[in-house]
Amino acid sequence: MSKIWLPLVRRYSTQPSSPVVGILGSGPAAFYTAHRLFRNDPSIKIDMYEATPVPFGLVRYGVAPDHPEVKQVEHKFTEIANNNQFRFLGNIHVGKDLPLSTLSQHYDALVYAYGAPSDKLLNIPGEHLRGVYSARQVVGWYNSDPRHQNVGLSLSRLKDLVVIGQGNVSLDIARIMLSKPEQLSPTDINPLFLQQLCESTLQRLHIVGRRDLSSVSFTIKELRELFSLSSATFLAPEYTSSLQFLSEEALSTFDRARKRLIKLIQSKIQAAQQNPPTSPSQKNPSNFWGLEFGLTPVEILGRNGQVEKVRFQKTETVRNDTTSSSDFVEIPAQAVVRSIGYKSVPIPGMQELGIPFDMTRGVILNDDGHIGPGMYASGWVKNGPVGVIASTMMDSFSTADKLYKDWLAREPFLKGTKAGWDGIRPIVKTPVVTWKDWEAIKNHEIENGLQHESVSEKFRTWDDALRVLHK
Ligand SMILES: Cc1cc2nc3c(=O)[nH]c(=O)nc-3n(C[C@H](O)[C@H](O)[C@H](O)COP(=O)(O)OP(=O)(O)OC[C@H]3O[C@@H](n4cnc5c(N)ncnc54)[C@H](O)[C@@H]3O)c2cc1C
Repeated sequence: MSKIWLPLVRRYSTQPSSPVVGILGSGPAAFYTAHRLFRNDPSIKIDMYEATPVPFGLVRYGVAPDHPEVKQVEHKFTEIANNNQFRFLGNIHVGKDLPLSTLSQHYDALVYAYGAPSDKLLNIPGEHLRGVYSARQVVGWYNSDPRHQNVGLSLSRLKDLVVIGQGNVSLDIARIMLSKPEQLSPTDINPLFLQQLCESTLQRLHIVGRRDLSSVSFTIKELRELFSLSSATFLAPEYTSSLQFLSEEALSTFDRARKRLIKLIQSKIQAAQQNPPTSPSQKNPSNFWGLEFGLTPVEILGRNGQVEKVRFQKTETVRNDTTSSSDFVEIPAQAVVRSIGYKSVPIPGMQELGIPFDMTRGVILNDDGHIGPGMYASGWVKNGPVGVIASTMMDSFSTADKLYKDWLAREPFLKGTKAGWDGIRPIVKTPVVTWKDWEAIKNHEIENGLQHESVSEKFRTWDDALRVLHK
């Protein structure tokens, strides 16, 4: 690989001045990397390139609207953006609006922090039927992400919803789908989604996992929230055949946090088994939700191109091994949400620059964030699409420290002009959104929210957001 890098890099013979750094992306990884770089050296110059006209990545378009406390990190990011050495350059999709090779000519270092903009697929027949959605589409829809406003999911025609995957994103989707609209209306949730929620006919929501109950990827706080919803009743598993509760002895092999999680699930299932809802008043108008385990999706079945049910093969997990049985079950569903993970993909131009990408894991190959001379990675594109904001923060600090340490050690960096954005501006044709522009967009969104007595109403098209700026 050194051959590919050689013409692009320089080695300093003297102590270098502060580096000029370009960061791709504006989610938590990007902002925390910037924060740590400024801590290491306040004279560093940072330009942050963001594909959409608005910053914050999944904090804006992923984190559930009823978790405003999580979105508080935006205040911290705003502080970072107010540093005089920082420039936000929104509405520039690197690889489309701006060739990566051009970008690499004007910086000492580039940090790839562009997250996981694609989705993992189930790769089973029927996955492309009408009524099958990715978690990203559904989450984007209720979060007013302009890329997911024509999802086509109608809640007023829905009785059974199957969510495939047992991580926190599935819990978010279930909680939002099962909440009372009035609980969500003060948030920045999409008002069009809220209207549909008012007309929702959803009765049963199943969150289905391939493995046993000890393998779920939920965190206890999110699970407790779903259990405590007053608008939905938890049902014992209906389709899981080999439901095995773990004995105290078996539980002792897990760490404390996982033990508490498993115990919670077991106790809720036991309670639901002992008190199944029987009377019509208990059944109606409440919604029901449940967890199913040991079911591997093998086919999504439909009629006239529209999903009707999901066929699962029963599996058994012993320790970490999963074996398939010859038994199958079918769960009815007018909509299916595939919630098995986000995925990173390479940016056009990476291959030409010799940036190694592991397509199976969906990560840029790196060594503690270091990809090659002057090239670094942070966040989900560095490690894969796992981890919360706090872990992304710690990990981004580590990339920033590595970059700065390499700089001080006079390791090879990019042979940039150091002009940064000033060298690039003439070739970018899209209307660029600055931080000041973003603040104007945000203020309009807050004003729009006042009409609904909500904290904010986000623009649901990029054109509407840009119109505020007359761009
Ligand atoms: C649905 C969902 C809910 C979540 N809820 C929580 C929660 O409640 N609490 C919590 O702690 N964590 C939560 N997380 C996890 C958290 O969002 C991630 O840990 C974090 O966002 C990862 O940060 P990142 O910067 O790597 O990626 P991202 O946040 O995805 O940011 C990447 C940014 O790069 C931009 N980009 C992509 N391609 C390009 C390009 N070519 N050029 C320029 N820019 C580009 C994207 O537009 C995006 O703004 C949630 C995740 C999901 C998916």
